[in-house]
Amino acid sequence: MKNSISGKCHCGAVEWTAVLPHTIALNCHCNMCRSLSGADYSSWVVIPSAQFSIRSGQDDIAHYQASENFSKSFCKNCGSTISCVNDDKFPGHIYLAKGGITSEFDMPAQIQVFTEFKARWVTLDESIPVFN
Ligand SMILES: [Zn+2]
Ligand SMILES: [Zn+2]
Repeated sequence: MKNSISGKCHCGAVEWTAVLPHTIALNCHCNMCRSLSGADYSSWVVIPSAQFSIRSGQDDIAHYQASENFSKSFCKNCGSTISCVNDDKFPGHIYLAKGGITSEFDMPAQIQVFTEFKARWVTLDESIPVFN
């Protein structure tokens, strides 16, 4: 097991690395995640912020404050979601967009959250514990 993971945006301008262990891997079915990602739900690896660093492309990252406690970071060039911060749920942590991980990393979601807001066409994976 490697002790870090790395990832990048689609165009490659932004590269990041994060030291493991992570705190949790989760799928979020909230309305905000759905509209911000454009997908049925979002998949994140939550890790203490101090374990995260941008390796390149700091100037290519834009931030969007989606709500008082939730901000999203994305690549200005390609629009890929890099991360988000949710001070409400995991203060001092960063949520890394799982789809951007390029290193070897086998970590299925351990919990799924906000399932009561799931898109009605989504069938929940009952093997993942619901935590609301
Ligand atoms: Zn990019
Ligand atoms: Zn969400």
